Amino acid sequence: MNISKNYNLLQLDLNKHEQEPIHVPGSIQSHGILLTLKEPELTILQVSDNTQHLLGFSPEKLLNQPLSKLFDSEQIEFLVDCLHQETIEIANPIELTLQSSESAANLSFDGIINRQMEVLILELEPTNPEKNNVYFKFYNLVKQALSKLQTANSFTSISEIIAKEVRKIIKFDRVMVYKFDEDNNGIVIAEDKAENLTSYLGLHYPSLDIPPLARKVFSQNWLRFIPNIDYQPAAIIPTHHPLTNEPLDLSRSVLRSVSPCHIEYLHNMGVKATMTISLIRNNKLWGLIACHHYTPKYVPYEIRHACEFLGQMTSLELVSKEENEDSKYKITIKSVQTKLVEYMSAEENFIYGLINYQPNILNLVNAQGAVVCFEDEFYFVGNTPNKQQIQNLIKWINQNCNEEIFYTDSLSSIYPEAEKLKDVASGLIALSISKTHNNYVLWFRPEEVQTVNWGGDPSESVKVNEDGSLRLSPRKSFELWKQTVHLKSLPWQPWEVNAALDLRSAIISVVLRKIDELAKLNIELERSNQELDAFAYIASHDLKEPLRGIHNYSNFLIEDYGEILNEEGKAKLRTLIRLTQRMEDLIDSLLRFSRLGRVDLLLQQIDLNIVLQRILDLLSARIEETGAVINIHRPLPIVYCDRIQIGEVFSNLITNAIKYNDKVEKLVEIGYTEASETVTFYVKDNGIGIREKHFEAIFRIFKRLHSPNKYGGGTGAGLTIAKKIVERHGGKIWVESTYGEGSTFYFTLQKVN
Ligand code: ADP
Repeated sequence: MNISKNYNLLQLDLNKHEQEPIHVPGSIQSHGILLTLKEPELTILQVSDNTQHLLGFSPEKLLNQPLSKLFDSEQIEFLVDCLHQETIEIANPIELTLQSSESAANLSFDGIINRQMEVLILELEPTNPEKNNVYFKFYNLVKQALSKLQTANSFTSISEIIAKEVRKIIKFDRVMVYKFDEDNNGIVIAEDKAENLTSYLGLHYPSLDIPPLARKVFSQNWLRFIPNIDYQPAAIIPTHHPLTNEPLDLSRSVLRSVSPCHIEYLHNMGVKATMTISLIRNNKLWGLIACHHYTPKYVPYEIRHACEFLGQMTSLELVSKEENEDSKYKITIKSVQTKLVEYMSAEENFIYGLINYQPNILNLVNAQGAVVCFEDEFYFVGNTPNKQQIQNLIKWINQNCNEEIFYTDSLSSIYPEAEKLKDVASGLIALSISKTHNNYVLWFRPEEVQTVNWGGDPSESVKVNEDGSLRLSPRKSFELWKQTVHLKSLPWQPWEVNAALDLRSAIISVVLRKIDELAKLNIELERSNQELDAFAYIASHDLKEPLRGIHNYSNFLIEDYGEILNEEGKAKLRTLIRLTQRMEDLIDSLLRFSRLGRVDLLLQQIDLNIVLQRILDLLSARIEETGAVINIHRPLPIVYCDRIQIGEVFSNLITNAIKYNDKVEKLVEIGYTEASETVTFYVKDNGIGIREKHFEAIFRIFKRLHSPNKYGGGTGAGLTIAKKIVERHGGKIWVESTYGEGSTFYFTLQKVN
C-alpha cells in the first residue's frame, strides 16, 4: 500500500471534519487578563475569571464597572487618545499601572488593545518593573539581527541567520524556520538549538499539524505566543458579548486560549513554551519561525513585538531572495519561449515548430514527454503514453477539468488509470488550446521515487472515531520516520506552469496570424484569378473575330473557287471549316467559363424543384430521343444559391449522364443527402463509367476522355464550369464511378436553416 496516497486521502476528509473553532475558545491563557469594554464610557462588559489573583478584584466586582475602577484618570485619558487612532494597535503596548487594589499595590501591565467591529478588547500582561533596561538590550539585538539579515546573500543563509538571531533574543531551546510546500506540508529549512537536542533540520511536518483554521489565524497574525502549555484556562465571563450576543472572537487576541489538540501536540513533543512568527508572502502563509522551549518561558510583549518585526523583515528578504534564485530558471524559460514562437512562425504547420527543433516544448517546462493534440492529429515528443492512452486521458480531462490549465505531480491519485503509466506519466500538465476541438498540449514527467524524512509518522496524526469519522489526534512520537513516496513526479514549479500558460497565448496568436496570412493569400489569389478571367475573356473575344474571318473566307473559297479545286482540295477546305467551327465552340466555352468569374453570384433562397423542372423541360427532346428514364425519388430542398448557375450545374451533369451512356435502358437518378450544415446532391447514371485515374482530370478545362466526335462531341468545359460554380458557392464537387457500370457526380451546397 502506498502511504503517501493513503495519507492524502485522510487529509482530504479531515479538511471537512477538522473545523475546530479555535478563534472562539471562550477562554484565555491565564498569565494575563482580558476585558471587553463598552465605548465611549469604557464600561467593563466581560472579564476573564482570573482577575482576583492578578488584580485583586473578583470578576463580579469588575463587571459593568467603569475602567477607572482599575486605572487612574491620566491613564484612562491616554487610553482614550489611543482609541481615537485609525489603527489602534499601533499604540500597543500601553503601560498601565493598577491604581490600587485590595491585595497588592502598583502592579504594572502591558495593555494590549484590539477592536473587532464594535467589540473593544483590552488584554493585560503583568510586566517586570525593570523592563526598560531589558528593552534597551533587546533593541540592540534586533538592530544587529537586521544588519546581518541584510548582508545575507542566499535564501538558506537568511533562514539560518534569522533562526540564530531570534534564538539569541528570546533564549529558547530551539528555533526553526519552516517552509510550506504546495500541499501545506512544512519542511524545516533552518534551525538553531541547544546542543543537547536532536536536530529537526530537513524534517517534514504534515499539513495536519496546522489545520486549515489555524492556518488562517496564522496568516492574520504575525505572532503567536504560549508561555506555558500547562496553564489553567481562564474563562471569559459572561461567555457571550452583551452587545453582539455572540461568543467572543479572539482571533486577534494575544492571550487567546490554545486548542486542546495543539496543547496535546506540544505536550507529545515535550515542549512547554512556544512562540511562532508567521512568514507571509502575498497574504499567504509561506512559512513559520517556530520557537520551542522545554520549560515554561515568558517573553515580554515588546520583545515579541520586535521579533514580529524581524519576522516581517525576514518575509520580505526571503521573498526577494527566493525570487532571485528562481529568476535564473525564468530567464532560461523566457529564451525557450522566444525560440518556440520563432520556430512556430517559420513552420507551415506550427506544431513542427514546437517539436522538431532544439529547444522544444519539453525544455519549456522541463518535461520528459509531450503530446500536441491538434485537430484530431497527435504529435509526440519524448517519453509519452501511447495514442490510445492519450485519447482516454483527454476524454477524462475534458470531463473533469474546466480550467485552461490543469497540472498534478501525482496523476494516478486522481486518475487511477495512470498508475500503469507511472514511468512516463506520474506528473502531467494539460493545457487546453480549445476545448470544443479537443486541442491540447500535454506534458509528462515520470515517477521520481523520493524519500521524505517526517517528524514522526504523519498517518499517526489521524484517529478514526467509533462512528467512523476522523479526528486529529497528535502523534505520540516525533522520531525520524522515513517514507518512500511512489507514483509522484518532481513537482511542477509555478514558473513552469506559467510558461505553459504563456505558450497557449503564443499558439493562439501564431495560429491567428497564419489564418490572417492565408486570408491575405486568398485575396491575392482571387485577384489573380480575376485578372486571368479578364485575360481569358479579352483573348477569346478578340480571337473570335479573326476566326470568324478564317471561317468566312474558307466558305467563300468553297463557294467561289469550288469548281477549280479538285476533290482533295475541297475536302481540306471542309476540314478547315469544321476546325474553325470547333475552335469557335472552344472559345465560346472559354468565354462562358471566364464570364463566370466576372459576374457576382445572385444568392437567393431557391426551390430546386422548380429549377430542375425547367431544365428537364429544356432537355425533354433529348430525353425522349434517347429514351432515358429520369428518377427523382423525393422533392429537392430549398437552398441558398444562384438560380441560373446551379441550374447550369444540374443541366451539365444530367446531359453528361444521358450522353455518356451506352446502355439500352438509360437510367438517371437525381437526389440528395443532408448533414447538419450542408446538402449533398447527386446525379447518378448507369452509363460508361470513368476510370479512377481520370476522376480529377475530367474537371480540367477542355479535358475529354474521347475523340471529339464520340458520344455526341463536346468541348470538355462542362465539368470545369460546374466545378467553378459549386466552388464559388463554397461547396465541393467530385465523382465516384465504376468503369463500365456507371458514375455518380456529387456536389455540396450550404443548407438554409
Ligand atoms: P464534355 O461533356 O463537353 O466533354 P465535360 O467537362 O462535361 O465535357 O466532361 C469531361 C469529360 O468527362 C467527358 O468528355 C467525359 O469523358 C467524362 N464524363 C463526364 N460525365 C461523364 C459521365 N456521366 N459518365 C462518363 N464519363 C463522363
